[in-house]
Formats: sequence, structure tokens, C-alpha cells
Amino acid sequence: MRKKTLRDLKARRLTALAFNAGIEITRDIAVHEAGHAVVAEFVGRRVRRVSVGFTARHIGGVTECVAKIYLNHELPNAFAVCCAGMVAGMLFSKQTCEQIEEGSQGDMEEIRRLLDQAIALAAEAGWIGAPPTTEQFLPHAVKIGAAKAREILETECAKKAVNYLADCLLTERSISGDRVREIIGRSSGEKAA
Ligand SMILES: [Zn+2]
Repeated sequence: MRKKTLRDLKARRLTALAFNAGIEITRDIAVHEAGHAVVAEFVGRRVRRVSVGFTARHIGGVTECVAKIYLNHELPNAFAVCCAGMVAGMLFSKQTCEQIEEGSQGDMEEIRRLLDQAIALAAEAGWIGAPPTTEQFLPHAVKIGAAKAREILETECAKKAVNYLADCLLTERSISGDRVREIIGRSSGEKAA
């Protein structure tokens, strides 16, 4: 279990603010989470549960995956999972860029966290000269992740899976990883497991 950080406390406070402000769970939020879940499964990250509602870490929704330590060569996949909510919003919702950006701040924090780790590892391994900073790397990471997420989400199977999963999320609020995999299987035309 991860130790509570200042960021967690901030997220908790924001959640309370959002709740008090009467922010609703919309289909856009469901599409965003469905994007994370579908891309996660496509890159081999096992989804444990995807939910929409008010949680401690995310306003509106959260996609939980089985814990995984990323090796450096796997980072593009990790970035793709982080960017997938934003990309799903661009492809499948009518939100403005500002709204999408606002809804993806938590995901950008996650990319920063992954970069912090990778840079710390590089420094430990004896990086020559001043190591690059997280903020220097962030735009590249987002570019790589968004391109990969887009490539996946533009396939017919992923498109169907995101839309179906978003509909299910709106009515059921919380969906197991097994059900996510069943939905993806059905969308690709395979027989559901
Ligand atoms: Zn997200």
C-alpha cells in the first residue's frame, strides 16, 4: 500500500470541492475512464476495476490496474495508458481542449511520477552530466503516449469497446477487469469468454 502523499490529500480536497460544486458524472467522464481501461488491456496491463464516481484520487473516475513496475523500455506503454483518457476524450466526446486538459491533470501527475522514477534510476546508474528534469521530459512523454493511445483507440475494436464500456459505466458505475476483457473480446468479434 502506497503511503499517503500531499498529492493524495490535494486530490481528496478537490474531490470534496467537486462534490460540493455538484459536478455530475457525465458520459465524457465514462469515455475518459473507458479509454484508460481499453488501452491498458491492449498494451498488456491487466485492469482490476474501472469506476466512475467520486474517489480519493480522481474526480469522476478511476481505472485500477494490477500493480506493475515498469522497465524503461516499457515506459511508452505506461505513457499510453496515462494519455488514453485524454485521447479518448478527443476522439469520442465533444469536450473542448480546455475541458479535456482539465480532466487529465491527474494523469499528467502520474506521468510526472513515472518520469521522476526513471530519472532517479538513470542518475543512480551514473548519468553523465546533469540529468534531464521531469519537466523537460514531460512534453515528449505526452507526445509518445498520446500517439500510441491514438493508434490503439482508432482501431474498430477499441472504438467499439470504449463506447460500450462507457455506456456500461454510466449505469453500473463500477466494472470488474474480467468484464472489461469480456467487452473487448466481444468488440473484436471473438466469442466472449
Ligand atoms: Zn484519466
